[in-house]
Amino acid sequence: MKLPYCEPYKIKMTEAIRTSTRAEREEWIRQAKYNLFKLHSDQVLIDLLTDSGTGSMSDRQWAAMMTGDESYAGASSYYRLKQTIEKIFGMPYFLPTHQGRAAENVIFSALLKEGDVIPGNSHFDTTKGHIEFRRCAAPDCTIDAAADTQLEIPFKGEMDLAKLEEVFKKYPKEKIPCTVLTITNNTAGGQPVSMRNIRGTAELCRRYGIPLLIDSARFAENAYFIKTREEGYADKTIKEIVREIYQYADIMTISAKKDGVVNMGGFVAMRSEELFRRAMQYSIMFEGYLTYGGMNGRDMDALAVGLDENTEFDQLNARIGQVKFLGDLLDEYGVPYQRPAGGHAIFLDAKQILPNVPKEEFIAQTLCVELYLEAGIRGVEIGSILADRDPVTRENRYPRLELARLAIPRRVYTDNHMRVIAAACRNIYERRESITSGYRIAFETPILRHFTVELEKL
Ligand SMILES: *Cc1c(COP(=O)(O)O)cnc(C)c1O
Repeated sequence: MKLPYCEPYKIKMTEAIRTSTRAEREEWIRQAKYNLFKLHSDQVLIDLLTDSGTGSMSDRQWAAMMTGDESYAGASSYYRLKQTIEKIFGMPYFLPTHQGRAAENVIFSALLKEGDVIPGNSHFDTTKGHIEFRRCAAPDCTIDAAADTQLEIPFKGEMDLAKLEEVFKKYPKEKIPCTVLTITNNTAGGQPVSMRNIRGTAELCRRYGIPLLIDSARFAENAYFIKTREEGYADKTIKEIVREIYQYADIMTISAKKDGVVNMGGFVAMRSEELFRRAMQYSIMFEGYLTYGGMNGRDMDALAVGLDENTEFDQLNARIGQVKFLGDLLDEYGVPYQRPAGGHAIFLDAKQILPNVPKEEFIAQTLCVELYLEAGIRGVEIGSILADRDPVTRENRYPRLELARLAIPRRVYTDNHMRVIAAACRNIYERRESITSGYRIAFETPILRHFTVELEKL
């Protein structure tokens, strides 16, 4: 019999989590105005709000923190991280930032001017925010297949090169300061992009003289999918694949809180010394001096080790395998989710799970609250509360998909936690006919309302 894989580590420290009664959870969620962001974390048994900054660091990362050099300028921690970034990504220049959106802020300050156009494959929301805040446009060139939740294709996050070329033809080169390729495609459900598509995007960009920026939060997971799904890559190491990906990039931004497996941090890296020189002033203005930016010395050391460790196959195989394990259990129970399972999360298809809740009563949010009441699980709504109101008509927007995202933190939960999650989903799915009402909004802010929204049960 072929041996199954297992986690390439053992656990030497634990953190207690607490079970609660349904009565307690009913009271807590009522006090939280049915907004899961407002729950205290000790009211949660399994926290799947995000996998960003919530992973557990290794003993080597914790040990590296003790070697952190907190010098204001020229810290050795900075040079250790610089060396790692050169080794892993082949990028000679970088600026540390406090997280991914700060890297976007620094580089877009240097690159973008009002009226510019920055095409991409489903820009991440903070990326789009930084583009639109500068009165620039962010046309979406994702392949159409990404929108079909039941379609199973290996690389569902790709850039549609025909759509991208249309943008290149429509606007003069001076108006397109860069193209953003996001790997994996977070907004499309953590779906990967093939090397063929990365190469194709880079070639098209080069032909039109436009720099390629890779938004890299889940670059290692994307490399794993290339190794396991794309012809010609099975025998390459993750590090070799990552090196090839970044040969095609001119600039990278990264939220290190994902595949860097640290709790806080990020950076922007580039090939061009000229661009680095232009970006420097924005690092100093928004983040900090060039050799620490938004990070402590100790955090740069932990990140250097995290990048090195998390570009090993066994780490990624255990992580992505666990997400798939949860997906397989849901398959067994017939619970519908967005297919195939992505790298970091399961996206439950709330419209199918709760067919009797009207869309005006926030279907995906209702499912998130049900999951909390059922088992103390905290997911996040990706539906009409997140979609906000139309800026002109102020009417609620109802996206085609109502999803409840269950993001799995790295190296935090065991497969037994996955079993609890799957069982809770199954129980809700089995009583779906009896769940007929949702929530109405009692308080909301004009933008980004999902973080602070207050709801009333109908
Ligand atoms: C998380 C993320 C960001 C933003 O990073 P933060 O660290 O949350 O600021 C940008 N792009 C992608 C693709 C991400 O996943």
